[in-house]
Amino acid sequence: MTSLFENYGRWDVELVSGNGTTVTDSEGKTYLDFTSGIGVCGLGHCHPKVVEALSEQARTIWHTSNLFKSTLQEEVAERLTQFSSGDAVFFCNSGAEANEAAIKLARKYTGKSKVITFQQSFHGRTFATMAATGQDKVKQGFGPMLETFVHLPFNHIEALEQEMDQDTAAVMLEIIQGEGGVHPATEEFLLTVEKLCAEYEALLIVDEIQTGMGRTGKPFAYQHFPLSPDIITSAKGLGNGFPTGAIIGKEKLKATFSPGSHGSTFGGNPLAMSAAKATIQMIFQEDFLKEVTEKGDYLTEKLNNVFSRWPSFKGIRHKGLMIGIEFSEEVAPLMAELRKNGLIVLNAGPNVLRLLPPLTVTRQEIDQAIEIWKQTLIQKV
Ligand SMILES: *Cc1c(COP(=O)(O)O)cnc(C)c1O
Repeated sequence: MTSLFENYGRWDVELVSGNGTTVTDSEGKTYLDFTSGIGVCGLGHCHPKVVEALSEQARTIWHTSNLFKSTLQEEVAERLTQFSSGDAVFFCNSGAEANEAAIKLARKYTGKSKVITFQQSFHGRTFATMAATGQDKVKQGFGPMLETFVHLPFNHIEALEQEMDQDTAAVMLEIIQGEGGVHPATEEFLLTVEKLCAEYEALLIVDEIQTGMGRTGKPFAYQHFPLSPDIITSAKGLGNGFPTGAIIGKEKLKATFSPGSHGSTFGGNPLAMSAAKATIQMIFQEDFLKEVTEKGDYLTEKLNNVFSRWPSFKGIRHKGLMIGIEFSEEVAPLMAELRKNGLIVLNAGPNVLRLLPPLTVTRQEIDQAIEIWKQTLIQKV
């Protein structure tokens, strides 16, 4: 019996405490958490600096509303703009809200409505972001979708060239499709998107909700390419587990979100901002990001060795600590076995295992995780 809606397919485990990469369940069993709460706790669970910032803020003031000035919001916004192509920030509370704001901003700024997104993309579960999402399973039963969203095959330059026109308000994409199976965009495709956006006066929106905040070894994943998006959306890792989201937009968009045009009661809440400020301070450091890249390569190399002779293994895609392992069979049974043996991992669709470990994961923890993989695969044979 449950008093909850059953919209989540939950695992039969309850995590009651966490410290770094380690989590403990209600029976006292410990696990290595290679999910970070679906890419949220980039600094691991209960990072002391974030705990300290949040506790200090909780003793000072929790909520003021956006009727007042906010130095904390200014500070977080300054860092987000300093480390991206954007110049102005709007704060909200989740990924879907960030994408929702980006779509509203693009429509209002351009005066156009068509938004091009891509098959297998995931942008959220509100009406606009559900319509933007390129996966039918997300939309089933929810009636007519919001109009003027077009979904094209990802990385398909000709399809994009055919669809782009004067009515296009924006192209919205993930640099690496996360929920859709860890599929990276190609450089040629991204550069074509940017060029066509400029040509048709459409905005380029990059959804960095999963790929941002250091996950791929850069502050934002688009920075692996010579791109300058008009709007960047962020959430998941931004508050290291305290709910918060943001859009970062270019100077030219500032006047469009004029007083009263958009808002959020909780957006930029002092608790959220204190967590985001502490998180950004640690992640947006060259040495820290370099480590993310190196540890990602280290883990991927070890995984390749583990799987090289595994019959259903098809290959690994990765950038930094965002890793997808594709199999020719369903991965749910393997995930359950790994969990039993003390390693928590995610999937991205039926055939892809996805790893999003804390960015603070140590090489020793990576080695431990690899041992668990080996044990689990031996048991399976
Ligand atoms: C998780 C995610 C979202 C939705 O974020 P919520 O906070 O769940 O609303 C949107 N886009 C991408 C790429 C995501 O990974």
